[in-house]
Amino acid sequence: MKISKIEHLGIAVESIEKALPYYEQVLGFECYNIETVEDQKVRTAFLRVGETKIELLEPTSPESTIAKFLETRGQGIHHIAYKVEDGVANALAECEQKEVRTIDKAPRNGAEGLHIAFLHPKATQGVLTELCEE
Ligand code: ZN
Repeated sequence: MKISKIEHLGIAVESIEKALPYYEQVLGFECYNIETVEDQKVRTAFLRVGETKIELLEPTSPESTIAKFLETRGQGIHHIAYKVEDGVANALAECEQKEVRTIDKAPRNGAEGLHIAFLHPKATQGVLTELCEE
C-alpha cells in the first residue's frame, strides 16, 4: 500500500468539553469540527496540527468501543490513522493477501467524510491502525 502521511491521531477522552481547553488554550490548536459518528457510537472533535490532525473521541454510549477502551486503559492514544493514496479497498485486499488480520472487511464511512478501515491490533504490533482516504 502507499501511505503518504499520518492523517490523524485518535485520542480517547472522557469528555470533549473537558479535554478541549488543554488542546486549545495550552497547545494553541483550534477545534474546527465536532461531529457524532452514530454507527461507532462516538462524538469526535478535530484539531489541525500542521499536516496532520488530532481526533478526540468521546463515547456516546456505554456499548461504544471507546467506552470499553476508557474502562480498561483510561484516557490516551487510541489509534493512528494513515492516509492511503491508492485506496482503502486495495489496502484491505493487500492485508488479506499478506494474512494481516483486519477489523473491517470493507471500507466504511468515518468522521469527516473519510472512507476508513481498521486493522486488528493483534496484527499491528499493539497499535490500533486506521487506514483512510478522502
Ligand atoms: Zn480515527
